[in-house]
Amino acid sequence: MTTQTIYAPCSGLGQSAIAVIRLSGDQTGQVVSALLRGALPPSRQASLRRLCDPATGEEIDRGLVLWFPAPGSFTGEDMAELHLHGGRAVITRVLETLSRQPRIRLAEPGEFTRRAFENGKLDLTSAEGIADLVAAETEVQRAQALGQMEGALGKQYDSWRARLVSALAHMEAGIDFSDEDVPFGLTAGKFEDILCVQHEIIQHLDDNRGGERLREGICVAILGPPNVGKSSLLNALAQKDAAIVAATAGTTRDAIEVHLDLGGYPVTLVDTAGLRPTDNEVENEGVRRATEKASRADLKLLVVSPDVALKHCSEALRFCEGETLLLMNKADLLPDFPDFESRLKQQNQEIPESLSVSVKTGAGLRQLLECLESRFQAWFSQLSAETPSVTRHRHRDALQECHAALTRALTALGAGAVEKNNVLVAGDNYKQPATSAVEGHTVAIELVAEDLRLATRYLGRITGSVDVEDLLDVIFSDFCIGK
Ligand code: GDP
Repeated sequence: MTTQTIYAPCSGLGQSAIAVIRLSGDQTGQVVSALLRGALPPSRQASLRRLCDPATGEEIDRGLVLWFPAPGSFTGEDMAELHLHGGRAVITRVLETLSRQPRIRLAEPGEFTRRAFENGKLDLTSAEGIADLVAAETEVQRAQALGQMEGALGKQYDSWRARLVSALAHMEAGIDFSDEDVPFGLTAGKFEDILCVQHEIIQHLDDNRGGERLREGICVAILGPPNVGKSSLLNALAQKDAAIVAATAGTTRDAIEVHLDLGGYPVTLVDTAGLRPTDNEVENEGVRRATEKASRADLKLLVVSPDVALKHCSEALRFCEGETLLLMNKADLLPDFPDFESRLKQQNQEIPESLSVSVKTGAGLRQLLECLESRFQAWFSQLSAETPSVTRHRHRDALQECHAALTRALTALGAGAVEKNNVLVAGDNYKQPATSAVEGHTVAIELVAEDLRLATRYLGRITGSVDVEDLLDVIFSDFCIGK
């Protein structure tokens, strides 16, 4: 199939020392030699060449040109890269010149990677790994994305799929030769294998959403009554004035977010409106948003301070459910309020792990960062390059569907299944359909086989090896142009 040739800048727009424009498709060779006004460079070797406007012969820039003939290129098509001087005028002029060439157009977001996928150069999980690697902001995100790009996740799903396909093949044989006394066509070994895959999928899903949380960023919400120092804390942690700090209560009416790198972990820190009963409609809306945000946060930093009414601090403590760290701020004022902590504890039976800090003097902030980092380390301790994690909702959905199909198949086969002559025979709780034994039996096996087939299809949808046409636009629209 001939596809249109595409081009796009693949380094960031704006001024830089070097900018890269890439092309892919069967017109690439012709277009590039027109720009070079001569032969293409030797394949896969950087050559310093002059780039000219083919219409006028005017020189536009001088740069490195790389030529990757199909199929040994990233997309599997003829490709070229132009490494130019990264000034805006150079890039604009080269893009404009390319746009005037026949049968070539600007690439859509993610189109290079989509072509690589469609030409069998990588599976969908690797393509998603590339997008994640480009978007990675912290060290831990980089490591996770690199593993996925290199196929760790894809290999895992392919291996489960291969084992299920093999069990399915045995079952199909049982269906085809059912009148030759092969009751299930499924050896005990294959039955075990389905059980094993199911067990491994359960373990893979039981990851506390670690991979997804790392990819999306860990959400930490700062909560508490007005005026306890929430915005000051956000600013201190972000080391910049992201939120408005004011001595008047009720300033932060909407959630303010900053993105931080805490020891390699990506954190979205959210400052929320002060939690207090109020008649002010706007402030009330802020409180509603704060509570909603907090309910979705991975961790809550609940801030109280001794100079704010004990009643308000106690009320805020009812937002403690889930992972919460209590921060007693304004520790510098504690000498003026000596019994604050004991009174707070008296009024509240359940107090989460707490730390005393003073945003004003900086006391306790280092301990707070260490405490956050060690919590994250504990959450993500089971994540490693050897055991890749689910990184997207669509993977989790497909795995849950796969697991449900396997459960149906295994339940139908019967938990008490026994092996006879190396062939598995239904257990006591196997439900014979109400029709004649032989006919009913055959129907049931076909249903089991259908569930196994579904299970393999769900795994195949994650890697893109089966019917994913409907998913591709959604997946690749997340990419940037030139990727
Ligand atoms: P928020 O309403 O909870 O976001 O509180 P702000 O961050 O706006 O702070 C309210 C007031 O408390 C401001 O005047 C801050 O300067 C002050 N403040 C914040 N942290 C401290 C602290 O550790 N010690 C003292 N003494 N004042 C603080």
